[in-house]
Parts: sequence; structure tokens; C-alpha cells
Amino acid sequence: MNKTLRRAVIAGNWKMNKTPAEAKALVEAIRPLVKDAGCTVLVCTPFVDLAAALQAAEGSNIEVGAQNCHFEASGAFTGEISAPMLTSMGIRTVILGHSERRQYFGETDQTVNLRLKAALAAGMQVILCVGEKLEEREEGITGEIVSMQVKIALQGVSKEEMARVIIAYEPVWAIGTGKTATSAQANEVCHEIREVVAGLYDRATADGLTIQYGGSMNAKNAAELLAQPDVDGGLIGGASLKAEDFAVIVKAATEG
Ligand code: PEP
Repeated sequence: MNKTLRRAVIAGNWKMNKTPAEAKALVEAIRPLVKDAGCTVLVCTPFVDLAAALQAAEGSNIEVGAQNCHFEASGAFTGEISAPMLTSMGIRTVILGHSERRQYFGETDQTVNLRLKAALAAGMQVILCVGEKLEEREEGITGEIVSMQVKIALQGVSKEEMARVIIAYEPVWAIGTGKTATSAQANEVCHEIREVVAGLYDRATADGLTIQYGGSMNAKNAAELLAQPDVDGGLIGGASLKAEDFAVIVKAATEG
């Protein structure tokens, strides 16, 4: 397994935090701390912060992404935002299938698949989130659950489009709980995901796929997680709201 075949990507998921003015301040604080990063640095902000974050990141190595998008380009979908709307303002990346969307907003593997195909069709890069619940891990079906999520989400996605897909393995029991998967647990599932992708496409597609770990990754545990052979980056919630902590994680990915 050759880790140098893949791009390391550290992405902050700000969730429902920060006003536009606060977003500007946070990007400005992160900017000097990550300027020498040897990995992709991305901040995924609330929709209303995207313009401010883009402006604050201009001329830097920080990319700005969104946290969701709808599967139709336009229409009667009150409260939703489409992929072409995001690209029209210069947003290239979107998180899809986050467990909070699945848990609180009725997202299913099928709607994640629809959203993912719509985002790819609009030319976007997608961070596809998958992960098991605590009871599923305790029942010993983590592999089955995560494989199924990956297979359904990627239905109808071409091998060429896979170059614009990143998968984030996020055990639901580790998100926002302070409980991190051990580095061995994280690597084991990231490896399983890679093998599923190898089966769906081919070895080269699997070996080139960036797979992130997410779930209470922080400044203290990032280096060990990111040093794992199948962990190519992180999707970071809480710690991405603190510029210094986020920068430590970016540094760990640069070195990992
Ligand atoms: C996330 O929101 O994707 C996440 C991993 O959150 P946290 O880092 O806070 O667990």
C-alpha cells in the first residue's frame, strides 16, 4: 500500500457554527498557521458563511466547501441549496451523508446517492461520509454496514468520477463524543472501504482514493491516526473551530 499515491486532505466541518463575521475571523486566524501545509486544507462552513470564508481565504491555500446539497438543480424544495448554486459561487467541494444529516434530517443511503450524483454532475468534489452506530459495532457488523453505505452511495458513479470522491469513515459513536476510534480500528475500516472500492472499480482507483477518518480527531490524537497506512486525512468537527488545534492537525497530516 503506497500512501504517496494519495492526497492527504484535512477538512474542517464547522457544522452549524459561526456567523459570517466569525467565519471571516476564523479563516484569517487559520491562514498563517497552515500556509506551509503539505496537504489539502479545507473548511466546510454553513451556507451563509461561504461568501465570507471564500473572501477571507482568497490567495491562500485554504479551500472552502459546503456541508450538503440537494439532488435537484432547482425547484420547489424549500430550505435546500443545489450543487449548481454552490459552483456558481466558486464552491468546489461538498460534504454529503454526514451522520447528523442521516440522524436528524432523514437522509438515507438512497438520498445520499442522489445528492452525490448531482454534485458530481455539477463538477464538484464530494466528501462522502459513512460509519457505523455503536450498536452495529457491538453486533460485529461494522464491515457490512460501512460496505453497504459505500456501495449504495456509489451506485451509478463512474471510475472517472471517483477521482472527485473522498470517503470519510466516521464511526457515529465517535462524532462529537470525545470517544475516538483507536488508530487500529480506524485503519481497519478505512482498509475495508478501500477493498470495497477495489471490488467496485479496480485496484488503481482504490489506491488513489483519499479516505479520511473522522470522529473526535484532535490536536493530541491526530498524529497517530494520520500515520496509519489507510488513513489519508481527517474530517474534523469540534477541533476545526479552534485555529491552533486545526493547524496542529494539518501539521500532523503534512508529516504523516
Ligand atoms: C464531524 O462532524 O464530522 C466530526 C468528526 O465531528 P467531531 O470531530 O466533533 O467528532
